[in-house]
Amino acid sequence: MDKKKALSEQSRGLARIRYTRRLFLAIIFAFLPFTGVTMAYIRRSGQWAALAIPLTLFGLGMVLQYILQHRRCPRCGEFFFLQKMTAETYQPGSAWSFPPQKKCQHCGLMLYR
Ligand SMILES: [Zn+2]
Repeated sequence: MDKKKALSEQSRGLARIRYTRRLFLAIIFAFLPFTGVTMAYIRRSGQWAALAIPLTLFGLGMVLQYILQHRRCPRCGEFFFLQKMTAETYQPGSAWSFPPQKKCQHCGLMLYR
């Protein structure tokens, strides 16, 4: 019974991470097309206020990345997307898995089964 409860809590935590990760990836892939369409619109109409759309997307992506970075693995409790930094594993710019990986960077728990 207790194990079942822990498992359902784990799958809830994974579902939350999946949702945020999917949203983040959608924004990344949508950013360039949105920016292209907006720039074409600005070129035709001269209305620079439309630039707010890609800027908002960018801001939203930054906020989502911040949220993703602080998501914790429901099994081991460590940060899901951050690798553990040791003197042996350190590489500049490698601490945050980008694009966000499909498994926990500590215990290997998979997002999708
Ligand atoms: Zn983990």
